[in-house]
Amino acid sequence: MSKKILIIGGGINGAGMARDATMRGFDVTLFDKGDFCSGTSWTSSKLIHGGLRYLEHFEFGLVRESLREREILLRISPHNVHSLDLTIPVYKHSPHALMTLRAGLTAYDVLSYDKSLPNHVVLNVNDIAQKFPAMNRENLLGGLSYSDCQCPFPERLVLNNLQSAVRHGAKIFNYHRVTEICKEHDRVTGLHVKNLLTNEEFIFNADMVINAAGPWVDEVLQLKSPDERLIGGTKGSHIVVKKFDSSMSSAIYVNAKSDGRPFFILPWQDEYLLIGTTDIRFEGDLETLRPDVKEIDYLLAEFNELFPSVKLNRSSILFSFSGVRPLPYTREDAPSAITRKHFIIDHAERDDLRGLVSLVGGKLTTYRQASEEMIDFVAERLGKSSPCRTTEEPLPGGDLEDIESYRRAEFIRIPAQLKISERSFFHLINLYGSEYQKIIELCMATPELCDTVCPHVPDIKAQLVYAAQNEWAVTLNDIMFRRTSAGLGECVGLCNLDATAELIGRILKWNDSKLTNEKNVYRNYVEKNLANHRHV
Ligand SMILES: Cc1cc2nc3c(=O)[nH]c(=O)nc-3n(C[C@H](O)[C@H](O)[C@H](O)COP(=O)(O)OP(=O)(O)OC[C@H]3O[C@@H](n4cnc5c(N)ncnc54)[C@H](O)[C@@H]3O)c2cc1C
Repeated sequence: MSKKILIIGGGINGAGMARDATMRGFDVTLFDKGDFCSGTSWTSSKLIHGGLRYLEHFEFGLVRESLREREILLRISPHNVHSLDLTIPVYKHSPHALMTLRAGLTAYDVLSYDKSLPNHVVLNVNDIAQKFPAMNRENLLGGLSYSDCQCPFPERLVLNNLQSAVRHGAKIFNYHRVTEICKEHDRVTGLHVKNLLTNEEFIFNADMVINAAGPWVDEVLQLKSPDERLIGGTKGSHIVVKKFDSSMSSAIYVNAKSDGRPFFILPWQDEYLLIGTTDIRFEGDLETLRPDVKEIDYLLAEFNELFPSVKLNRSSILFSFSGVRPLPYTREDAPSAITRKHFIIDHAERDDLRGLVSLVGGKLTTYRQASEEMIDFVAERLGKSSPCRTTEEPLPGGDLEDIESYRRAEFIRIPAQLKISERSFFHLINLYGSEYQKIIELCMATPELCDTVCPHVPDIKAQLVYAAQNEWAVTLNDIMFRRTSAGLGECVGLCNLDATAELIGRILKWNDSKLTNEKNVYRNYVEKNLANHRHV
């Protein structure tokens, strides 16, 4: 009989662990209290990066690990992760001189000696002006450009890990809250779980429980005293605006003028710029996170410092969001100095409680490595030795040698009767990789499903159907934001909401009152969580 592992949390780390453990032959069940990837993982800056700034804190091990993982993800998931050119403009007032940055990027290149991306390049003022004609040139001394990676839609990276886990035999449940860790004497025996859709409650037995609840790790453990806490979360917010220069494909990385913090302007989803982030110690309610006025104004001011002629203001913001980094608790460190390493907490050692481990910290970038370490640890505790295979097998849809040529070659092959634009087609490949064929099959059966969900997004109706039928989606929100990017248009999915909800409702068998309720929940979510800048 396979040993049973229960995983709490379907963010990137829980999903990565579920995949790894199932591939090694464990009997795995994963629960998330919300939808998969509805916690921190979707709110990140979406960079798969070595973390140049960690060199300042001499975290060479973390940088090397991240750069190695970046390369692995490019190989096993080329549809989810792509290279991104970043430019660092250097001004007279910049905290790091050109020479210092050059030394840092040389170290970055050395630490990524096995990479497929190009080395850094030194830029003069003219080079920068050509790349970014609207950039502030006053006191600009020059700059550098280097390569890292972006995962524009981490929701699909999480989903692909879960799909892979399920194909290897895992069971996964969204909208299932773990309400209690069941114990007998000094060992954990399982979990008490509540299905939030039906209010049914269950007990699941386990040989090992993994707490991968991100910023909720302490809440899951129901710690009695604040001194016992593991997580010292910091809040980070982003704003999304329309690209003011449609040709801008390079990202910008600077130290913010007002406080020296890392500040990114990232091209995102073809038409947008993702601007972030803040880093503020967080002790509040994780369920009602919003960017506050100060954060929004800080991000706008730093952007306008770099691009004064663009004059971004609150009404330029299309949407905004916040997340909490599940960092290890420290009393002293400034938020940006807290390590981004991950730690495995063995509760047998810490609390004399066997059969329970927690993950603290980590990055989106290093989720696979963190998962491998966690499952190595668990396997050893459960007396089973089997090697990790997650670097070898591509994620679902990731079996592509060269995604660029694949995209072009496949586009020519789409059956003539299907009216899918090049933009939508490329979007399908970016979201589903080689598994885009499954969407095409739906279009072949019902050609109207080739239509876009609304004029503001490249997503097509077949994706909604596919998500409702095959991707564990339960709500309109799940489909619009976490299976497809249909909710990420300028209209935030509202312009065609009735027709969209009806199409999804037919598949999920919603009656009229359920349909109305789903639309209301959707509108509320958009108003409160994404478009809340209107109220600041
Ligand atoms: C602003 C910001 C920017 C970032 N930028 C980057 C970046 O560019 N690159 C990078 O590599 N990393 C970045 N990170 C870090 C990265 O996003 C996180 O480290 C990572 O997403 C954490 O994933 P997780 O799976 O541990 O947590 P989460 O994604 O939060 O997943 C935990 C899950 O547990 C579930 N859960 C909680 N309680 C329960 C319960 N009782 N029962 C069942 N389920 C439960 C939650 O619903 C949630 O889905 C950033 C983070 C932030 C906040």
